Amino acid sequence: MDYSVARRRMVEQQIVSRGITDERVLDAMLAVPRHLFVDTGLQSHAYSDASLPIGEKQTISQPYMVAAMTAALELQGDERILEIGTGSGYQTAVLSRLVKRVYSIERIAVLAGRARKILDHLQMSNINIKVGDGTMGWKDQAPFAGILVAAGSPDVPEKYLEQLEIGGKLVLPVGDQSQQILMRIIRKDKDIFAREQLMGCRFVPLIGEQGWKTEPVD
Ligand code: SAM
Repeated sequence: MDYSVARRRMVEQQIVSRGITDERVLDAMLAVPRHLFVDTGLQSHAYSDASLPIGEKQTISQPYMVAAMTAALELQGDERILEIGTGSGYQTAVLSRLVKRVYSIERIAVLAGRARKILDHLQMSNINIKVGDGTMGWKDQAPFAGILVAAGSPDVPEKYLEQLEIGGKLVLPVGDQSQQILMRIIRKDKDIFAREQLMGCRFVPLIGEQGWKTEPVD
């Protein structure tokens, strides 16, 4: 299978067609080999318009959702970004092409380890990954120009607002465990936050001290 053809089709038919115009985001989505972030048995589906299982009851996000969340950060190239929910590492790889440094937190060690291996293989060296509860943010490295949360939260964790620089943008899904609204919150000033609702979405839950307290039961 020619993955570069599949990737171009993905960008044109799933992303450009839904209104994403940020050329840097489109270029990053064209460049990152998404098939390397899924199991070999799923590689032929890697460029389909869907999220896919990555083990540990988690998913690699739908390509359009990765593009839309990334575009919502309106990145220029010199930012330090916090990502919550490394998962497969695919979104991390897209971000790494667009910013100065990505700090990514994953609560499941086996996923973080697997993502690290693929990102190292792709020689993406501007990424720090740690295993832990991402609902607390990454205080030592704050403030961030952008925070992207790839798991659904019952509310907006206070730590993210605290760890956003002035002018910084937080993009996260907020709602119940079956569906959420993708929100963008811009820190306009120390205590002034502008909130926008971008679209409906469906993510696995953000589990932690400032998220859901327990894993969903099957
Ligand atoms: N964007 C990722 C990708 O492209 O593969 C997909 C992320 S997946 C939808 C959500 C991830 O968030 C899961 O890997 C899950 O383990 C992780 N997660 C959930 N709660 C978390 C928390 N409190 N801290 C860090 N990661 C968390």
